[in-house]
This record gives sequence, structure tokens and C-alpha cells, in this order.
Amino acid sequence: MNKSTADKPSRPPWRCRYPESELRLPWLSMLLDAYAIIDKGIAHAIEKEIKKHKSPLACKNNCDSCCRTHTDIPVYPHEMTGIYWFAAEEMDHNVRTLLRQRILTPPTDASCLFLINASCSIHPVRPAACRQFNVFNRPCAEGEDPFFTRRKDVLTPIPQYTDKAFYAVLPFYGITTEPEKLNAIKSKIIHTQAKNLKSLKWFNMLKAMDNFDNR
Ligand code: SF4
Ligand code: SF4
Repeated sequence: MNKSTADKPSRPPWRCRYPESELRLPWLSMLLDAYAIIDKGIAHAIEKEIKKHKSPLACKNNCDSCCRTHTDIPVYPHEMTGIYWFAAEEMDHNVRTLLRQRILTPPTDASCLFLINASCSIHPVRPAACRQFNVFNRPCAEGEDPFFTRRKDVLTPIPQYTDKAFYAVLPFYGITTEPEKLNAIKSKIIHTQAKNLKSLKWFNMLKAMDNFDNR
């Protein structure tokens, strides 16, 4: 469903693009720019880590224990807005139907609401925390949170990229002038807006889906 177009020279090739929606929703461009910065930072951090410790990255497709068991996943308001949009407007119809069911009857275990058929159903707009959680050496054992069991195997994101990504979305929070932006980054003000993805109720997303369907 990624409606990619030819790369624009000003944006990196790995940035997701949704030209029509981005024209209509200016915050979406900020969000996708921020995720491209995060993804670039992760690629650099992984490269550095592999060179330094010669440990292979363990994360791979269909490895989903983290999505099923981790309970503390921060998500920010700008990211939640992106998830609402994606679920309403871009998600594959069948996956969307399953997501509706999961919203109405949330999983009773610690599984992420968005984990559908062993895949992240919101992959292009998954939160920065999910993008940044990478593990080396060996895949997580069932129920293991390697942050606590083997911290040295967990990727440490490069802070400059995280700050740059936050900087890109500050207008979403009404922070637009340069001094305000610098102060917001320094004081980590956006960090105070974090919610826990797994304890949030997502019922309003159903409304967003209905609104889109009834347009
Ligand atoms: S964090 Fe662990 S469970 Fe998740 S993809 Fe990586 S190795 Fe697999
Ligand atoms: S949002 Fe996606 S990547 Fe993050 S925990 Fe949920 S299913 Fe996993």
C-alpha cells in the first residue's frame, strides 16, 4: 500500500511517500521526515555496532516476540495521529477488518494491538521506539526483554538523530520559532508527551476509519 513516487532529491530514498495525503495533511510530511531521520540513525548505529562488536543483527522479518511481550512502548501524539491516519486511509482492507476486531476485543495477553498475522500492520508509521529497538547476536527468547537480560546486545540509538527527528515534528506541537525549538529539544519537552502504546484505548480509531469510509 505504500504509494511511493520517484525520489525527490531533497529527501532520502528510504523515506515513505504519500504525495496526495501529504498535500492535504502538512503534519504527515513532518512525521515521515522524522521517521526517515530515525531510520537513517538506526542504520548508522547498527553499522557501528556490527563493526565494533562483530555481532550480527538478530532482528528479522516475522520475529515478533518483542511485539507480543514488551509492555513499555512509548508513543507520542504526533505518532498516534500518524497511526490513526494510516489505519483509516492506507491499511489493506482485510488487515483493517482484523484491526477493527482487535480494537473492539483487545488482546488479553500483552500482544500489541497492531500485530496482525505476525506482522506489524502499521509498519510504515510504527513508532520510533519500535524502529529503534534492535537486538544483536541472537533473537529474543520467548518473553525475553533483552534490555534487562543482556543490555549490551540492545542497540543504543545515536541521540543526535533522535533529537533531529523530534526537531522535525515540533511544529505539530505549535513550536515554530528557532529559539522555541532549540529550547524544546534541550528541555526534552516532547518526551513528557509520551504515552504507553499498549495501555492506550484505540476506540477513536474506529471513528477515524468510519469518517474516511463515509467521505
Ligand atoms: S527485538 Fe527480539 S523479538 Fe524483536 S525482532 Fe529483534 S530479535 Fe526478534
Ligand atoms: S507497533 Fe508494530 S512494531 Fe511496534 S510493537 Fe506493535 S506490532 Fe510491533
